[in-house]
Amino acid sequence: MLHLKGLLGFACVGVWPALEETLAAEVEKQGRSEGRPLVRRRSDSAVGIYVHVPFCARQCPYCDFAVDVRRTIPHREYADALLEEFESRKSALDGRSVRTIYFGGGTPSMWEPSEFRRVLQRLRASVGDDLVEICMEANPVDIRRDPLDAWVDAGVTRLSIGCQSFQPRVLKILNRIHTRDQALAAVELAIEHGPEVVSLDLIFGNPEQTMQEWERDLDVVEGLQGLKHVSAYNLTIEPGTAFSRRVDRGRLSVPDEDRCFDMLERLIERCEAMGFERYEVSNFARPGFRSRHNTLYWTGAEYLGLGVGAHSLCIDSEVGVYRRANPRQTAKYLADPEAADGVEHLSEMEHFIERLFLGIRTREGLDFDEVRHQFVEVIDEDLLRKARAELEGFCVQGFMEARGAVFVPTHKGLNLGDSLAERLAVLGDGV
Ligand code: SF4
Repeated sequence: MLHLKGLLGFACVGVWPALEETLAAEVEKQGRSEGRPLVRRRSDSAVGIYVHVPFCARQCPYCDFAVDVRRTIPHREYADALLEEFESRKSALDGRSVRTIYFGGGTPSMWEPSEFRRVLQRLRASVGDDLVEICMEANPVDIRRDPLDAWVDAGVTRLSIGCQSFQPRVLKILNRIHTRDQALAAVELAIEHGPEVVSLDLIFGNPEQTMQEWERDLDVVEGLQGLKHVSAYNLTIEPGTAFSRRVDRGRLSVPDEDRCFDMLERLIERCEAMGFERYEVSNFARPGFRSRHNTLYWTGAEYLGLGVGAHSLCIDSEVGVYRRANPRQTAKYLADPEAADGVEHLSEMEHFIERLFLGIRTREGLDFDEVRHQFVEVIDEDLLRKARAELEGFCVQGFMEARGAVFVPTHKGLNLGDSLAERLAVLGDGV
């Protein structure tokens, strides 16, 4: 399956024994004290919870997520560990408004529905009434009437189905476990009996994939009445994966940039003709059905990540902004679900730049009043002015549109998001 977390690069600066000690040491090192200005939270204090379920039936050759391929899944132990971790870390949600819960993987749909339900019920009981979305990722082979009913009954409002392609040849190259017919039947069943929102994941720019095969995938999407959302990602060859090794040995070729760009153009044209709005680089939604969880990531919200390999972003009133990573190995996580594998402190400047370049990825737009609210005490006024001037320059060049204080990327801006981000990234140089 495909996940936003791939976009949120995270480099641990060390492996520390306990988060509390780490944070205390950080406070000491940074010389922070009460009253020192810090980055503020979003004004609505919105946060999301991400729960990682690492189990997979097989390893896909392009995937570098935290996955655990095994025959026997420790269903109950994993649920117990997640709940233990949540209990020990839930104070990080104090004063926040939890809007979304997202179960990603791995393959959450392989998890025993009764254990899934137990965990979700506990989370829901603890987080208050502000929840607007509960999403889970699913593999087509796991989608049957009984689990669908159980997931909906537990509160799932959105199902994200990892189809990747409907072409037998491409599915084989990707080593996916499902067939074209299984994928199609799963999506149709989910639309009929599943939660309100069904989304499907596709990949383009696959090895040997032709434009005709991509068009046929888009034909399938067009035929799926009731589908609310599509995520379509350009394949990237991640270091350390089987695909990467095959590319290095000259045994695998992927379409060049021009071919991938042509596929992206067709994706945009056809999805828009079907009534989907492109609201992020790789995401398309019917009106009112954008992913709220992923939108939180792009608009400066904190998130609490639970489970194997999960990441968290926290704005702490004493420490400042930090990211935390959980262990990527199931055995290590189960042995001590409360232990972090690494904590990275972000400087105010790093967080500011990251906030800007994530914000320009989505049609939700970058609300500069909100950015000012969060950073006015820690970022120099001249730099805030410079950042705004840069965004206004993007508008003149046709990359963005200004709607009051909100800067919204155009298609051109979304396509050139990485280049625009690079121009924002140098803003802080020399400061
Ligand atoms: S099913 Fe998804 S998470 Fe599991 S190995 Fe394949 S791409 Fe990775």
